[in-house]
Amino acid sequence: MIMDILRFIETKRDGRTHGSGEIRDFTERFAAGEVAEYQAAAWLMAVYLKGLHDEELKEFTLALARSGDILSFGDEFPIVDKHSTGGVGDKVTLALVPLVAACGIHVAKLSGPGLGFTGGTVDKLEAIPGFRTHLAPEEFMTQVRGVGCAISGHSAKLAPAEGKFYALRDVTATVPSLPLICSSIVSKKIAGGAQGFVFDVKCGSGAFMRTYKEAEELASALVRLSKALGRKSMALVTDMDQPLGLWVGNAVELLEAIHVLRGEGPSDVKEIVVALAAAMVALGRGISCEEARGETADRLGDGAALAKFKEMVEAQGGDGRVATAPEKYLAIAERRAEVLSPRAGIITHVDARSIGEGVKRLGGGRMALSDRIDRSVGIRLARKKGAFVQAQEPLLEIRFSDERKLTEALPYFQGAFSVEEGAVGGTAPSNGQKEGPILGTVQ
Ligand code: URA
Repeated sequence: MIMDILRFIETKRDGRTHGSGEIRDFTERFAAGEVAEYQAAAWLMAVYLKGLHDEELKEFTLALARSGDILSFGDEFPIVDKHSTGGVGDKVTLALVPLVAACGIHVAKLSGPGLGFTGGTVDKLEAIPGFRTHLAPEEFMTQVRGVGCAISGHSAKLAPAEGKFYALRDVTATVPSLPLICSSIVSKKIAGGAQGFVFDVKCGSGAFMRTYKEAEELASALVRLSKALGRKSMALVTDMDQPLGLWVGNAVELLEAIHVLRGEGPSDVKEIVVALAAAMVALGRGISCEEARGETADRLGDGAALAKFKEMVEAQGGDGRVATAPEKYLAIAERRAEVLSPRAGIITHVDARSIGEGVKRLGGGRMALSDRIDRSVGIRLARKKGAFVQAQEPLLEIRFSDERKLTEALPYFQGAFSVEEGAVGGTAPSNGQKEGPILGTVQ
């Protein structure tokens, strides 16, 4: 069918529904360079304003997924994948993937680099000496089959049309659209070959979705679309109003993830890791999350998850000794600075976004696409929301390697904390939101 591209754009501009096959055709032609970028951009804006119906969304998602290779593991065993919408201090994948594999469920995890003020799993893993973060599709599949898990950066061969559309959305103010976000995420998951997807939708100041209502809407839309395309799916909505855990950076987040794999580490990270692992095991086995939860907590406690992490690191060329002596084998910047509390009081807010922006300026993230990341820098929160602090006590410790970058980053760290005077001995005021790191579940 030779589609009239003007008529196609008009259809969505006027809020009408595309005929069956039209979106697939359009996507294929755009991927082949036969549709001008300005016309694709006009259609994206029409979708941003008018939305997509369920059948249109399914067709668009499948067309994106099928624009490149689709990994196929056969049906020897179930494969599950997880996606986080991204946040500050989000080191969950690093502990979650080996934990789920230690429970006997295969995990094929495709991850991206850091986006905006949030860190990326690939950047964190590159702090391990020798670790290869970009496996060729065949190598990725062989490792998933043999070791039970692999974490690799996205191959350009998977869902290439999605990358082209994403680049256009980025420069045409069409990123925050529910159908465009869902098709972007789910198409990449489908290309990755898993039969079950668990989504960690972050909510709060350090996330894409600021309010619980928005996050729940995205979580429901992701689960609905995945199920409509024949995949098992579940989502958790988790708190990203303050950073997750204590450390934010690259090597330092890996350090914290290894602490979690040892059964130690901060309780908020552990709680999310165990809950997501239970969801992934539940999807893989066809059991309930409650049934899966005991086993996932046990594998974290008995060293099996840490042993699986070591096996995965070594399979990807990394130095496995990081698993047992991370302080020795991870390069963490030696130079230290502190942010002190200007007054005595209770910490009512630690703004995740400001912390993320600060770590990026320290060198821990990219200001421009071509920037090299300094994986050794980062921060450790000395106190989190709800804690009491005396005047001149530390709020945050900084590990840095460049004085000029420290000067640029400091205002973001200083501005991240709200300390309410006169509240010593009181309790942190509630923001009306459920307390704890897990805010909701969507099945
Ligand atoms: N992450 C994605 O992969 N796609 C989007 O559209 C937004 C966030």
